[in-house]
Amino acid sequence: GEDIRSNFVIEEIEKDLAMGRNGGKILTRFPPEPNGYLHIGHAKAICLNFGIAERYNAKCNLRFDDTNPVKEDVEYIESIKEDIQWLGFQWADEPKYASDYFEQLYEWAIKLIKKGYAYVCQLSAEEIAAQKGTPTEPGQESPYRNRSVEENLELFERMRKGEFKEGEMILRAKIDMASPNMHMRDPIMYRIIHKSHHRTGDKWCIYPMYDYTHGQSDFIEGITHSLCTLEFAVHRPLYDWFLDKILEGEPTPEVRTRQIEFARLNINYTVMSKRKLLELVQLKVVSGWDDPRMPTISGLRRRGYTPESVRMFAEKVGVAKRDNVIDIALLEHCVREDLNKKATRVNAVLDPIKMIITNYPEDQVEMLETVNNPEDETMGSRTIPFCRELYIERDDFMENPPKKYFRLGPDREVRLKSAYIVKCEGFKKDDQGNITEIYCTYDPESRSGSEGSARKVKATLHWVSARHAIDAEVRLYDRLFLDPEPDGHKDKDFKEFLNPDSLKVLNHCKLEPMLAEAKPLEHFQFQRLGYFSVDPGSKPDMLVFNKTVGLKDTWAK
Ligand code: ATP
Ligand code: MG
Ligand code: MG
Repeated sequence: GEDIRSNFVIEEIEKDLAMGRNGGKILTRFPPEPNGYLHIGHAKAICLNFGIAERYNAKCNLRFDDTNPVKEDVEYIESIKEDIQWLGFQWADEPKYASDYFEQLYEWAIKLIKKGYAYVCQLSAEEIAAQKGTPTEPGQESPYRNRSVEENLELFERMRKGEFKEGEMILRAKIDMASPNMHMRDPIMYRIIHKSHHRTGDKWCIYPMYDYTHGQSDFIEGITHSLCTLEFAVHRPLYDWFLDKILEGEPTPEVRTRQIEFARLNINYTVMSKRKLLELVQLKVVSGWDDPRMPTISGLRRRGYTPESVRMFAEKVGVAKRDNVIDIALLEHCVREDLNKKATRVNAVLDPIKMIITNYPEDQVEMLETVNNPEDETMGSRTIPFCRELYIERDDFMENPPKKYFRLGPDREVRLKSAYIVKCEGFKKDDQGNITEIYCTYDPESRSGSEGSARKVKATLHWVSARHAIDAEVRLYDRLFLDPEPDGHKDKDFKEFLNPDSLKVLNHCKLEPMLAEAKPLEHFQFQRLGYFSVDPGSKPDMLVFNKTVGLKDTWAK
């Protein structure tokens, strides 16, 4: 496999290997909660976990952290699997589910109750919050903290049987209400939720909390390194506490998971929490989770990003110990680099205006040769039709061109890419003063590739043959938010910073005929305009292209 650059996580793993921990085994996992589509931040975690597995010729589990039936859905499970595979990774065996461990977790909870490490508490969520204390002041002990083991066992059993309402009882770990770590102040292990689970149905009405689930799931699977984002560093003592107490009196296990935290990926001009992305979907601000403006993996894919470009981005971002914000221009730089190597150069006119070559015979068609990709000779060449009537880009002509405008204007010459030099001899306007046609003559000696082609003119324009061109819709995107940190404002909702002009639909574009064969998600460079890819919803009679990124690199290296 492809090597990921060394980073501090790898350094820690190397130390563990050198010490002979876990019998030299490596097993990682990627543990999404199926409550939304994956975003580019998850891509970083995926590349890290699967990348380490590849590096050590080991495996990486996919585990759905499905402990909250209220927010989770099978739609999300399917999208997550698709996105991981699209990135080019494959999990070990079958996907795993935390819900598969509910029975084991329940048995361990009983074990903890029996050992006096857990108790059933009847305080409300508000009361618990009020009694939690502050980081500098100890919290108050629950009046239910010292129930007998028998009573705790009986109540927990009745919780499981569904005898109580939501919020009426919870199971808490009995640790230390004076701990300087707030997560150690008798954290909740189980809560009652009377809702069907997408996998376990109505079997359970008590659901384990993240902290009581994650470490044990890692342990059950034999995960050696549990990599998670920095906010979980304060949870680590609790992660270890549960495992220590569960394993108390047991023989030393072969593998003992170690949690290592890394910085979460943040990108400017977007939001990256699933809750906020869901809000955009539900409010129809975007067309769905895979809207090309979304920072989701499915959105990037539909936008025309390649798996290689996303992996390159994750690699360049690296793995840090401190949170930071990455410039979106770096992501764009990565896809531009990749597509520059791969994309066929084609002609597309987004805002067409007709050009008539008055000295070109009426029914003549010439097939002109053009290279597919100057970056890659092996991509070969093809022919494009040239005839008397063409389309060029409206803004490639000006009636009164200013000084630095080198494109077409009255009495000026330009080269038509892979074709001839043409000279503007006149134009026609409609009643409103809009230019409707441009009249040119061509220089038959100037054909590209011929001897006469050496003659230099100041500009080269792209064009399509009017008779052969096909129609298409082209969607142009701008960033979804106008503010670099839309969710970084105290008194303002992130939606206040939405860019009202993030989508522009062009309906009358003219493309060269070979694009009629373009397949969904296929990539092209529209010459002089940028990289574009076929929208998956595109139909043969109504082609739709999405602009992936422009040609100009704004990433400052
Ligand atoms: P969100 O807050 O966006 O909903 P999450 O952390 O709740 O994200 P999970 O489904 O729990 O989402 O994430 C699965 C894995 O991906 C976790 O290990 C998590 O740490 C990691 N992850 C999530 N967001 C990022 C990010 N922005 N950068 C790096 N890793 C991330
Ligand atoms: Mg999470
Ligand atoms: Mg979340």
